[in-house]
Amino acid sequence: NNIVVAIDGYSSCGKSTLAKALAKKLHFIFVDSGAMYRAVTLYFIRNNVDLHNHDQIAAALKDIHLNFHSRDYQTHITLNDEEVSAEIRLMPVSDNVSAVSAIKEVRVEMVKQQQRMGRSKNIVMDGRDIGTVVFPNAQVKLFMTADPKIRAERRFKELSPQNPQITMEEVFENLAHRDYADTTREESPLTRADDAIILDNTDLTPEEQLQFALDKIEP
Ligand code: C5P
Repeated sequence: NNIVVAIDGYSSCGKSTLAKALAKKLHFIFVDSGAMYRAVTLYFIRNNVDLHNHDQIAAALKDIHLNFHSRDYQTHITLNDEEVSAEIRLMPVSDNVSAVSAIKEVRVEMVKQQQRMGRSKNIVMDGRDIGTVVFPNAQVKLFMTADPKIRAERRFKELSPQNPQITMEEVFENLAHRDYADTTREESPLTRADDAIILDNTDLTPEEQLQFALDKIEP
């Protein structure tokens, strides 16, 4: 049987960084589920989809075709054959993604696609509901957390080279807002699965986090 590693947690906790490192080490497929919600959000923004109009949402979801190209273990995602990996990280998407990902129809469709990806291959998937909803039977579940200030600093460092106008306050506010929205929404709120192992990485290097995860996977 194929192996699924589920990594959930708050925004900017280093979930993708750890997921990528693990996938590389184990030769598993890496899937960044947040990139899918971000790409859907980008489509909704570009096409002025009304978040309260269920017909528009259903039509949009039929029109959206997402694909991952996981060469070199980075997130390469296409939206209807257009490479959008950079654009989905920008503030317009970050500011709207929590509202879009709270829509039931959006989640049903994304979960279906995610489950299909994990059906026959060994994968590491990171997100908010991977261990609770997408793969409740995943062999290994990690729940990541870190000090909010540290998370904002890390994200700021990552974003500022391409976005010189961005401020630390803006990044901190966006993270706080997304954490609040993600944990309090009605549909699949972010919560730790009972059998998920907590990994607080406030004081851990990427190498230490990788070792921690490997110890859980291959004891
Ligand atoms: O992982 P990332 O921060 O890029 O995810 C962006 C947003 O997508 C999250 O803030 C959350 O609202 C949503 N998301 C989700 N379920 C997932 C992954 C992401 O609701 N499995």
